[in-house]
Amino acid sequence: MKKEIKKILISVEDKTIIEGVAEFEKIFKEKIKNKELEKSVKLSRTGTFGVNTKGISIVIYPGGVLYSDLKIHDIDKILNQHILKGIPVQELMPEPISERLSEHGFNPEEAKNENRIVLSNVGKINPESIDEYITSGGYNAVKAIAEEGLEPKDIIDIIKESGLRGRGGAGFPTGLKWEITAKESSDEKYIICNADEGEPGTSKDRLILEGDPHRIIEGMIIAGYAVGAEKGYVYIRGEYKISVERVVKAIKDAYKKELLGKDILGTGFTFDIELKKGAGAYVCGEETALIESIEGKRGNPRIKPPYPGEKGLHNKPTVVNNVETLANIAPIIVNGSKWFHSFGTEDCPGTKVFTLVGDIKYPGIIELPMGVTLREIVFGFGGGIKADRGLKAIHLGGSSGAVFDKSFLDVPLDFDSVKKQGGLLGSGSVLVIDNETDMRNYLENVLLFFKHESCGQCIPCRIGTARLYDLVKKLDKNGQNDVIISNMEHLTDVMFKSSLCPLGQSLIYPVKSIFKNFGNEFK
Ligand code: SF4
Repeated sequence: MKKEIKKILISVEDKTIIEGVAEFEKIFKEKIKNKELEKSVKLSRTGTFGVNTKGISIVIYPGGVLYSDLKIHDIDKILNQHILKGIPVQELMPEPISERLSEHGFNPEEAKNENRIVLSNVGKINPESIDEYITSGGYNAVKAIAEEGLEPKDIIDIIKESGLRGRGGAGFPTGLKWEITAKESSDEKYIICNADEGEPGTSKDRLILEGDPHRIIEGMIIAGYAVGAEKGYVYIRGEYKISVERVVKAIKDAYKKELLGKDILGTGFTFDIELKKGAGAYVCGEETALIESIEGKRGNPRIKPPYPGEKGLHNKPTVVNNVETLANIAPIIVNGSKWFHSFGTEDCPGTKVFTLVGDIKYPGIIELPMGVTLREIVFGFGGGIKADRGLKAIHLGGSSGAVFDKSFLDVPLDFDSVKKQGGLLGSGSVLVIDNETDMRNYLENVLLFFKHESCGQCIPCRIGTARLYDLVKKLDKNGQNDVIISNMEHLTDVMFKSSLCPLGQSLIYPVKSIFKNFGNEFK
């Protein structure tokens, strides 16, 4: 009888690298060799396990047994007990999320489950293996297009019917965006994957790329076919070293399998992808600044209109989609638009990948249906506030979003509901702030970030960010703050109306929400 091979997947991401995962992996491999288990145990790397685990973590198949917060001295126990005797090591297994939910008063049966569409492969496959991606159903959407003879218009119709909205922050309908570019007649068109994730407290795009890079390539191929583009760029933050390495390898492997290049799977369709590294400017996450940067210029935002859909890269029609948006494409093509509507809300179908950071017990990324509440995310899946302190505030959607107090905990999280409350769902970052944080200091930090990142091209933002930073430092716990607050609010109104791009426009959200929701700290 053929001996069953045990597969051990080890999560290698920035969080675990800090914990020493490279050394852990090396010793694990040596011990497998010393015990002569090389033929029956296969150890490979994978992406993040999200908020399910802490520290260095592994999963063992068959069974999918998770081990978390591991130290080097735990390796022998795992090999001797789990691998050799088949008995899971209970004390190294993390607390199941269902228990975390019950502890905080949620019924795990009623709570929205972690529905993984975007992250379905993350933490489950080796992201450096195209074969594992294909075995898990990868490139089936491209195959379906080839085998079923779907026309570009059919693809756009499916994406439009799915109701998918851009996950980069703006929530613009993806199908409509593609249709605008498809209708343009041009000798060249482009697809750009915006992976220049620079929003403080957000790491979802990095972790999607690290955990499942082929999913993005597949989404880009489909987008290119739908709009008539033959060239794509992945514009990725230069500091995202692991993402860069894995995307480079994925592109190379896709060419080898003839999933990129000329006449993909006999469709007659040609599509090439190139990777461009960003130099770390926050403003390059804005689509026109990103386009300027790819063209080799300083990353300054352009005046809109014209929008990139009509005149983008090299003044040709260009679709710019966020990583998470593109990761939704292949599953929608394979499962259909109706299936996608079975998740989320009517106007915002599907899921959202949230980044949980700050004073939370279990930081990481988590994918939940649109419409989930912050209460479920923070106190259920995130396990509550670190060091058992109280919750003071939540900065939602990144630094450019609003800062809410506890009264917002039960508002459903989708683009429209958050907007109605005066905020932005943005990148889906959930930055938890405990009750020992001084909100004036917090606002000072936020404003320092924007002052530093303003590209300086337009006066309202160049002068406004510097002036706001000067003013926040003048706020005094014992002083007369009303005039300063009123000046700051007025300045953000002016910046909202007159700045050239969202960087200057969006400061109205953190500034006004902090004064509105935490005004008593400034009296
Ligand atoms: Fe540059 Fe700020 Fe103007 Fe945007 S708003 S173009 S970042 S100066």
